[in-house]
Amino acid sequence: MAKYKRIVLKLSGEALAGDTGFGFDQKVIEKVVDQIIEVKNLGVQIALVIGAGNFWRGRQGLDMNKVTADQMGMVATVLNALAMQDAIEKRGVKTAVQTALGIEAIGERYSTKKAIEYLESGKILLLACGTGNPFCSTDSGAALRAIEIEADALLCAKNVDAVYDSDPRKNPDAKRLEKITHNEVIAKGIKALDTQAHVLCAENNMTIFVFGLDEKDSIKRVVNGDKIGTIITN
Ligand code: UDP
Repeated sequence: MAKYKRIVLKLSGEALAGDTGFGFDQKVIEKVVDQIIEVKNLGVQIALVIGAGNFWRGRQGLDMNKVTADQMGMVATVLNALAMQDAIEKRGVKTAVQTALGIEAIGERYSTKKAIEYLESGKILLLACGTGNPFCSTDSGAALRAIEIEADALLCAKNVDAVYDSDPRKNPDAKRLEKITHNEVIAKGIKALDTQAHVLCAENNMTIFVFGLDEKDSIKRVVNGDKIGTIITN
């Protein structure tokens, strides 16, 4: 029996991109979907929040209106949600897409009540467009939705295996953190999720697991209660 029965899984856009870092790589998506379906078959309800860093991340240094740039990012999350929906449904598993911005031909607008109904009916839920608001990221969207649907935990599958006290790709002495609090992350400026996500999770007592998507069976191991990656709690 899985330890966590209802989870929000945040996948960064980059996690779907493969080596190029841009767009998505179908082989990578298929591997992620294998894991997701295996976890669903353990009886776990899964809501996926997918980022868009593989396509677009805010202004990216361009001379552009910030709100417009963020709206582009939110729209880009829909591409990833659709790619994931396609890959999951090809495997015979039912899904529902809900969007924080209105794109009715693709998915209905997010509603907590409907989201829970879909999860309880066995569908994998794909949540697109983050929070629907600019000036935040899909990390905040994932935290918000995890709290709204009363998930047991928020799982963040990343390209790195854990949270470090500094960037391990730049600092060979970066210390790997096994356990940390939301408030420590905020106070020490540690790069985990964005600050708003930690504030929301601290206020609502939501646990976050950060771990490497590449590690074998990582999602399954986390829902089973194995200690991999970093756990962030109050
Ligand atoms: N975004 C936004 N509001 C949200 C979620 C996302 O404005 O609630 C925009 C923001 O510009 C962000 C981009 O969409 O940079 C892509 O999301 P994110 O950076 O979270 O993607 P990830 O890094 O997880 O792939």
